[in-house]
Amino acid sequence: NVSASTATSVSQDKLLGGLLSAAFDESSCQSRYKSNLYRKPSPFPLSPYLAQKLRKYEAYHKKCGPGTKRYRRAVKQLKAGRNADNSECKYVVWFPCNGLGNRMLTIASTFLYALLTDRVLLMHVSAEQEGLFCEPFPGSSWVLPGNFPQNNPHKLHIGAPESYANMLKSNVVRNDVDPSSVPASSLPAYVYLHVEQFQLKLSDNVFCDEDQVMLGKFNWMILKSDSYFAPALFLTPMFEAELAKMFPQKEAVFHHLGRYLFHPTNRVWGIIRRYYEAYLARVDEKIGFQIRIFPEKPIKFENMYDQLMRCVREQRLLPELGTAELPTTNATADAGNGNGKVRAVLIASLYSGYYEKIRGMYYESPTKNGEIVAVFQPSHEEQQQYTSNEHNQKALAEIYLLSYCDKITMSAWSTFGYVAYSFAGVKPWILLRPDWNRETSDVACVRSTSVEPCLHSSPILGCRAKRDVDVAAVKPYVRHCEDVGFGLKLF
Ligand code: GDP
Repeated sequence: NVSASTATSVSQDKLLGGLLSAAFDESSCQSRYKSNLYRKPSPFPLSPYLAQKLRKYEAYHKKCGPGTKRYRRAVKQLKAGRNADNSECKYVVWFPCNGLGNRMLTIASTFLYALLTDRVLLMHVSAEQEGLFCEPFPGSSWVLPGNFPQNNPHKLHIGAPESYANMLKSNVVRNDVDPSSVPASSLPAYVYLHVEQFQLKLSDNVFCDEDQVMLGKFNWMILKSDSYFAPALFLTPMFEAELAKMFPQKEAVFHHLGRYLFHPTNRVWGIIRRYYEAYLARVDEKIGFQIRIFPEKPIKFENMYDQLMRCVREQRLLPELGTAELPTTNATADAGNGNGKVRAVLIASLYSGYYEKIRGMYYESPTKNGEIVAVFQPSHEEQQQYTSNEHNQKALAEIYLLSYCDKITMSAWSTFGYVAYSFAGVKPWILLRPDWNRETSDVACVRSTSVEPCLHSSPILGCRAKRDVDVAAVKPYVRHCEDVGFGLKLF
């Protein structure tokens, strides 16, 4: 039956080859179905195994999520300070840290961890993050209910006695016994997993088999992270085989999980859609420039602008400028009509200077080949405001708009940029950060080898054998990042 099979393939396309669940009402979250129409098809086929795993997870989340009997029972145990044996449902509760890009990377990492360890992912949604994302799991919610007993983010820090590393130090959890022999009911009611970097390293005793067996016994885990720790899960031996089945192409981890989890709400989607339709929908090529200046490494405007222009020239990202047209013959005008091609440059930056200069350049002079270059910047917020909801809506909209670009050039170290290129499935050009003692970088930009984000803080993998190894040297699927030499990236 031809029409039936056509219908199936259309709906499969809409659901990104089975990545998305068919169980949602479309109008409640339009971006889920519309956003990908603004992009080229994904270059990374989805493994049927991952699709299956997601459907199983959704059923589990529905069974154990907020509002269910099982959830109420689990919270009751937590309040009573008990960690029951053989619990049917286990949870990992994500707490926020840093800006939106960081948060999206850590939510995706925590979700991957939840998939690998059979936990339900719940999110502590702070006011500034409210109303940004649609619910990703049908028939349930990933929002941590307000009456959750351990709801105080200030208790979550490296020194917290409930942190797993501190439990090991204080012998609440023993390091010298076979973890599989420890009864769950002998453990505290929850564990805090601190996956925040300390001096650009993630703690030991997290990405190790024995520790994971022990951690698996806690029914409640609270996790806070500032790092894209998904690559570290690939370095944990017990997860390796499962991950290989889920991600035959390892560089597509965030690409798939991000497209599965994050869907801007209709309100944010309105911003994205209006901007896209007004400025980007009808151009021949879209090039995104994301310029991020970090307070810990300030770079002067002139130096950053010069580096961006060097990158543009060296990589031939934009047409060269010609000399101003003379009011002469038709022949001159015809020679460079560029076939009417229009290239859009989309600039994401807190400041308007880059936009002003690049726009001015293509306003005052023609291009050599006659192509038209149109330059746009959706907002320039000047200041980073972690706690403003409106500011975050714009940030999210810009991450999405960047992710519709055919080519992306981004600032080194920026998780904002990582999310955008990874959604797009496009390898970006990275504007390298000058060395700590220099104001400029000799190399303007390098092409990323992968569409995966970079983990800035490599894990210490001493584990119980206390061997520290350079994993990039021994694992064929991780590399050091182009922009963060000691960072790690799947490829
Ligand atoms: P990172 O600090 O570059 O790794 O990215 P984060 O997203 O974690 O934090 C930076 C925050 O600053 C963003 O979430 C935004 O709130 C803000 N920000 C930085 N660059 C831009 C930009 O180009 N546009 C907008 N709207 N906000 C930005």
